[in-house]
Amino acid sequence: MKKTVRDLTDDQLRGKRALVRADFNVPLDENCNITDDTRIRAAIPTLKFLLEKGARPIVLSHLGRPKGKPTAKYSLQPVADRLEKLVGVPVNFVETTDTDEAMKASHDLPQGEILLLENTRFLGGEETNDERLSRSLAELGDLFVNDAFGAAHRAHASTAGICEHLRPAVAGLLMERELDYLGRALSSPRHPFVAILGGSKISGKIDVIEALLPKVDALLIGGAMACTFYRAMGLETGKSLVEEDRVDMARELLDKAGTRIILPHDAMVAPGIDSPQSARAVAKDEIGVGDAMLDIGPKTAESYARAIASAKTVLWNGPMGVFETPPFDRGTRTIADAMAAATGNGATTIVGGGDSAAAVAQAGLSEKMSHVSTGGGASLEFLEGKPLPGVEALDDK
Ligand code: ADP
Ligand code: MG
Repeated sequence: MKKTVRDLTDDQLRGKRALVRADFNVPLDENCNITDDTRIRAAIPTLKFLLEKGARPIVLSHLGRPKGKPTAKYSLQPVADRLEKLVGVPVNFVETTDTDEAMKASHDLPQGEILLLENTRFLGGEETNDERLSRSLAELGDLFVNDAFGAAHRAHASTAGICEHLRPAVAGLLMERELDYLGRALSSPRHPFVAILGGSKISGKIDVIEALLPKVDALLIGGAMACTFYRAMGLETGKSLVEEDRVDMARELLDKAGTRIILPHDAMVAPGIDSPQSARAVAKDEIGVGDAMLDIGPKTAESYARAIASAKTVLWNGPMGVFETPPFDRGTRTIADAMAAATGNGATTIVGGGDSAAAVAQAGLSEKMSHVSTGGGASLEFLEGKPLPGVEALDDK
């Protein structure tokens, strides 16, 4: 178990410069307007906690992929403005990160205010976990708080390297919550434990399937990855998205899993994504050569919903279909509704994955899940059982 901000004494916090690594990697439109501020909101409990304890939060984050040099469209300035509105205290923004100016601002920061520094990925050493950068970032704080679960699977200077030079190094409240929900699902889930996996590619999720299989009572498959399994079973998949080079692996998984992997028994098909008006439901062995499977079928959606209703723990990663284009959002929508209802009946429901979280938000059901993870790649790696460098580097309890 890792230490969290709640394990620190008042003396370790009062007046101290708390260097917080947050994940403010928010989606932006062409004019650099923030289109979804979920990740900013998610960091607020930690920031408020620190402010209440009299600590002075100095926040680091990355945004986008600026490749080690300042890039105007990836500036954190819009995040500073949004954070100030959301948190209700002054947010000072300095347009540099590891400079004398940033250092001075960290020392001058009054209690009750927040300082946000510029994008860590404007610095060449960030993604290489450079020792010198880690050391100079460490000087910006008296203690380190990692709340960036979404970046914890990367060993970068501001997530991992920095912990070598700055102690205490503890988890923030969001990080704690993420590790708590995902960790309990893996280590001590209440049964029946049902996992639902979908999305576009099986290749990115094979390790998750392998890791979850011994733990779940049922693994329900949807999305395009169902088509790769269909192919492995010798079914016609028409124009569906199939990863040819993973068909053998899918066959091996099916052999190993026995009845625990459950595939859709019907499908919503159309000639293509641009002809939703031709969408129709067919049985899994009725997919034509001109059809693409773009969603699970209505019968499958209903039976998956029943499986969810009878579960005590439900973990979902990956949409059931091309949910961006109705009517291929129906399967995804049915899963989201079933999970929301299950939460109401006392089940623990967890959503991981960027697109799945977006689908749940789009359905207005985020608040009805026990936990919606803010980390796409990080949650997948955690579910695969891989250690997360940004977590490993923190102080043990
Ligand atoms: P997450 O971000 O939740 O982990 P993924 O990134 O793995 O999910 O997959 C999301 C994408 O998968 C969506 O853009 C969706 O359109 C696509 N997808 C789902 N089902 C299909 C399908 N049957 N055919 C093609 N694309 C699909
Ligand atoms: Mg995705």
